[in-house]
Amino acid sequence: MKITKIETFRPLAHPSSLWVEVHDDKGNVGLGESFFSQTVIEEYIHTIAAPLIFASANINPESLNFALTPYVGYQGGGIEVRSLGALDVAVWDLWGKSINATMADSLGGKLQDSVKIYNTCAGSSYMKKTSSQNSKNWGVAESKEKGYEDLQAFFNTPAKLARELYDSGIEGMKIWPFDPAAEKSFGNSISQKEIEAGVKIISAIRDEVGMDMDLMIEFHALWNRPTAKRIIDAITPYQPFWIEDPLRPDAVDALAKLRSEISVPIATGETAIGRRQILPLLEKGAVDYLTIDISWTGGLTESRKIASLADLFAVPVAPHDCSGPVALATSTHFSLSQRNGFLQETARAFVNTWYKDFVDGIPKIENGRIYISDASGHGITLQSWVRSSDEVIVRTSKAK
Ligand SMILES: [Mg+2]
Repeated sequence: MKITKIETFRPLAHPSSLWVEVHDDKGNVGLGESFFSQTVIEEYIHTIAAPLIFASANINPESLNFALTPYVGYQGGGIEVRSLGALDVAVWDLWGKSINATMADSLGGKLQDSVKIYNTCAGSSYMKKTSSQNSKNWGVAESKEKGYEDLQAFFNTPAKLARELYDSGIEGMKIWPFDPAAEKSFGNSISQKEIEAGVKIISAIRDEVGMDMDLMIEFHALWNRPTAKRIIDAITPYQPFWIEDPLRPDAVDALAKLRSEISVPIATGETAIGRRQILPLLEKGAVDYLTIDISWTGGLTESRKIASLADLFAVPVAPHDCSGPVALATSTHFSLSQRNGFLQETARAFVNTWYKDFVDGIPKIENGRIYISDASGHGITLQSWVRSSDEVIVRTSKAK
């Protein structure tokens, strides 16, 4: 494929989001996305990546990956890799359109028609800004206005929320009841009272819906190892489905030691980048469920290799969302087509509010499962108003 134009769309009202469209010389368009650090990713795409892409007569997912993995700045989860991830998904979407195949078919075909979801209990304005990654950016008041505030609900009315989710067919929910205590102590310590406050939320959910609801307890890598262990010991009797990011994923030895001391599975991976950061986690037995973010980790080209690697260690993959509609659709195509794809993160407060404001073609979610459409590529397209709105910064680069 010859790429002739690259456009980015940065909505001022939703400052964490960035979309990128890649156009070929046949008139096909592919859509990619990034979440967080959007202004610098936009700049990188236009000033560094676009000239490299336009210089190649033959761009496909593998050649794009090669072109944007130079020997300076190729490692880690920085702007280069996040930009590559957004462009890679756009090129996979374009690839699917050029051969009239769904993304799942481009990846080898579906193993199943739908995949189970769980609900991340965020509100609709959670992490909407890029100013901070803590409770100041939970967007509670704004979310309330839109009618979805699952974050406040899990803190204040956890049983009611669990019942509502369960009755709608959802059998998994993710909550982060210990984050306020971590913010107070820089993750260094937690009081017995703070542990009990979090345990009370978990026990209320168990009392309401029993073991029929999978419980994912998110730690956001905020804790030191001994404190993480104390909290995990306190919630182990409630049999969480997993503990997510108890420590940073690059603290591989500490994670492996923690895993050897607890009986609850560990999920990690959304900020671990590429096979080179995932392999040590697998080799050390530090991860039970791999929660890669397809865009952040460098795109589908890298993600399918990660899934294959994880399969060698009998580790299932449950891709990260809570970031954007393209992430959700791409992850669903990915999970349906991978041997070890088994569960998809969703945030109903996002899917039912701002995802629908910006795009068409969101995968159908029904009775706790998610389905892809027959549309070629990932099936997501930007709504036409996004192109002409004064509230969206549009930048265009064209091949000469
Ligand atoms: Mg997470």
